[in-house]
Amino acid sequence: MTHAGGDLRDRLARVGHDVAGAGLVVASGGNLSAREPGGDECWVTATGTWFDRLDRESFVRVRLRDGAVLDRASPTSELALHLATYRVRPDVNAIVHLHPQTVVLLAALGERIRLVTTDHAHYVRRVAVAPFHPPGTPELATAADAVADGTDCVVLAHHGVSVLGETVEWAHRRARNLEEAARLTYRALALGRLDTLPECPGFTPGHPLV
Ligand SMILES: [Zn+2]
Repeated sequence: MTHAGGDLRDRLARVGHDVAGAGLVVASGGNLSAREPGGDECWVTATGTWFDRLDRESFVRVRLRDGAVLDRASPTSELALHLATYRVRPDVNAIVHLHPQTVVLLAALGERIRLVTTDHAHYVRRVAVAPFHPPGTPELATAADAVADGTDCVVLAHHGVSVLGETVEWAHRRARNLEEAARLTYRALALGRLDTLPECPGFTPGHPLV
């Protein structure tokens, strides 16, 4: 796996512009973070930032160990979820929190997202659903429990998703594929064909594609 170079803030800003264009966030919803592998500090979006306007000034440095904010701006209200996730997943170096409407809709309907293509199976692998907690509360950060077993995609019920990656770019691709898988699942559901929709051959839900 290659690690794209460059400032983490620039790489996160590129994600923000792309997912805003793809409709995976609305207005100033969502937040992003990343750290250097093994690092004890992360960059996280400041509160109130809009994904289509991100630049280096949009990010705040936070120490993972104790959550100390190392810059003057205020971090996202979902900081606790980011910190809890890094603490349970030392292999994760980027977290993309979005509000993708099809993923959230299917979870609200109690429908499992089907992984139809090789990209879905490769990037998404499996999806956990965490119970509803109001945004910005310490309880919401308990969603990190759902990724402790290596799951990289967790749906926050009635809210959005938290998608993890070893790099910013992996978290980005994973998030885009998660919403695409949800859109295909939704189309099959709308056609009345969800029960007969084949998933990617060789793929067992919850296990990597072999
Ligand atoms: Zn959110």
